[in-house]
Amino acid sequence: MQNRFLRRAEILCVGTELLIGDIVNTNAAYLSKRLAALGIGVYRQSVVGDNPERLAEDLRAALDRADLVVTSGGLGPTMDDLTKETAARVFGRSMEMHTASLERIRQYFRSSNRKMTPNNEKQAMMPTGAVVFPNDYGTAPALALEREDGKILVMLPGPPRELEPLFREQVEPYLQPRCNAVLFSRNLHIIGMGESAVEAALPRELLDSSNPTLAPYCAPGEVRLRITAKAASSAEAARLCEGMIRRIQETPIAPYIYAVDTPSPEAALVQLLLQKQMTVATAESCTGGLIAKRLTDISGCSAVVAGGAVTYQTREKIAVLGVPAPLIEEHTVVSEPVARSMAQNALRVFDTDLAIATTGYAGPGGGTEQDPVGTVYIAVATKNECRCHRLSLSPKRDRAYIRDVAATNAILDALQLVRK
Ligand code: ATP
Repeated sequence: MQNRFLRRAEILCVGTELLIGDIVNTNAAYLSKRLAALGIGVYRQSVVGDNPERLAEDLRAALDRADLVVTSGGLGPTMDDLTKETAARVFGRSMEMHTASLERIRQYFRSSNRKMTPNNEKQAMMPTGAVVFPNDYGTAPALALEREDGKILVMLPGPPRELEPLFREQVEPYLQPRCNAVLFSRNLHIIGMGESAVEAALPRELLDSSNPTLAPYCAPGEVRLRITAKAASSAEAARLCEGMIRRIQETPIAPYIYAVDTPSPEAALVQLLLQKQMTVATAESCTGGLIAKRLTDISGCSAVVAGGAVTYQTREKIAVLGVPAPLIEEHTVVSEPVARSMAQNALRVFDTDLAIATTGYAGPGGGTEQDPVGTVYIAVATKNECRCHRLSLSPKRDRAYIRDVAATNAILDALQLVRK
């Protein structure tokens, strides 16, 4: 058997429910990320229904092109689960009972107090010569077949709660000796600068660098710079990324980088408030508590999040926060002065160092000619400063999107104010 390095991979997801749009193909996204981290490039992702002829055709084509093919789905006990049988045909192998798997499946049913039906035995049938990965998270084991030329086919069960740990815990260590490189990425998170301005501020040689590579891209409310290095070890790849980060920190972008590798803007804000020993309150109208929810999703937030008010109706903005009624009459409830007043009053009501306020039209109804649906005024205030920003999203966007983007922008505005 040839010992081939795995450079190119293809992912083939099996399941008619994927083709008809009943489920979203999260397995492909997951596998692509994990393979990239192993330094294996994913050249194609495809989906095929539960049809043995088309599956065989796709498996043959994928194995012709790639060093490694990973499938998900079709390992279950029912008639339409045909991945293993089809792969056996493509590899010219017969099927045989894998007794250790049969015993595990029996044990799984005994311990979960369920009755095992005869078709469950099918899950222990394996192509001859298969490498079997026992499944601690379900009944269908994963497996791999290796061809004479060193090409590998890995087959994983469809449910993500089984596929993900099986891949991480068993398939990755199996593939690792065949990987001659690791890929490692870092992300710089930038606010207050647009994507084109970021690109223009970066020296050409950094943008053209091939290892590590540098890619600017847009995320809601922010720009990210993804730095990806390929090396023989993770330590070496991390060192290459670190060098690139240092170079970027010498450019005019540096003051706009609010975090490196943060999982979310709210995590970065909570972290920064913890560092600065500051507290925060929210006064929300159109975001309906979303900002408070996002902040309180972060563990450790109790040291910084004091509280918040969802003041949805005008009366509550006056009664709970103390926004002056004449201010609302003069400017309307969705306006910059009202947003500012909400934030400044929240500082007082909750006695915090920072307050975040929103008022806007999330739609689909409401809005005015001057401030149509999609307009949200976001105010952030500390004792010394209050900033307000008018977010103007397309009125065609749905309510959930407008609220979500407004919450993200509000958190990013707060980050910018506290960082300075
Ligand atoms: P089972 O033993 O559950 O039958 P299986 O290996 O036969 O597993 P499928 O029958 O193809 O897998 O899929 C089982 C379930 O796993 C699907 O109903 C779906 O919920 C989930 N699933 C399958 N493929 C994917 C995918 N590509 N992305 C996300 N979820 C998936």
